[in-house]
Amino acid sequence: MRSSMRSSGRATIRRRLARWIGAGRREPIAEPLWRRVVTELPLYDGLTGDDVARLRDLTGRFLAEKRFFGAHDLEVTDYMRLVVAAQACRLALRLGYEYLRACRTIILYPEGFVAERESLDEDGILHTGYEELDGEAMYGGAVVLAWEEARPWRGDDDAFVGNVVLHEFAHKIDELTGDHNGLPPLRRGMSVRTWSSAFSTAYDDLCAAVDAEEETPIDEYAAADPAEFFSVSVETFFLAPRLLEWAYPEVYACLAEFFDEDPAHIEEGA
Ligand SMILES: [Zn+2]
Repeated sequence: MRSSMRSSGRATIRRRLARWIGAGRREPIAEPLWRRVVTELPLYDGLTGDDVARLRDLTGRFLAEKRFFGAHDLEVTDYMRLVVAAQACRLALRLGYEYLRACRTIILYPEGFVAERESLDEDGILHTGYEELDGEAMYGGAVVLAWEEARPWRGDDDAFVGNVVLHEFAHKIDELTGDHNGLPPLRRGMSVRTWSSAFSTAYDDLCAAVDAEEETPIDEYAAADPAEFFSVSVETFFLAPRLLEWAYPEVYACLAEFFDEDPAHIEEGA
């Protein structure tokens, strides 16, 4: 990945100090800007007033603690920071803010960016290539996002569209166990065996559908590996919960317990 970001050692120490001093602080969010973002984000549709107030508090904390940088001369505005923070914090509404701790830095590109990729072929020869990305969660590092894809967007009718912010921050939650493998640190009382069984069965089912060139119930990118399956499932859980519950009910049940939310049944009062 290439970026125009530069930082000296002294600046790094200053930032760490500022983060330490700022721990627990909230960045004030201007009321009109907050109202605009809440209205624009489909992710905030249907939430109660209490939930939105809680998310505003989490978002203020996120903005006070995380650093944003623009790449390719992108000037990062307060609106852009707020849009990203409000979406990332949606994951933490009941899960808890601490689950966002693996990300301290967000890098915004104006649009899709190119990342270098290395792969070994069958003969053990290393190949270097390039891939255009909308987002990337760098292991142990920053979340990188294309602003063009991270900005609020509403599709036609209720058609499911992905959400790159949820996707990449789901990877950072997954990372808290030390690896991107689709198994985040589960909440107290949750069963790793139940989780692994639900996700591996659904993953195998999706891969079989892809191999058979059948239509897949969720984005077929989830078949790339178990970590991608987890991140795509999280996107689907928040934006098309009934679809996920219909396609993979055991996965839906695990995510409902993990996030302590039941978005497929909100309107039914369940
Ligand atoms: Zn991914």
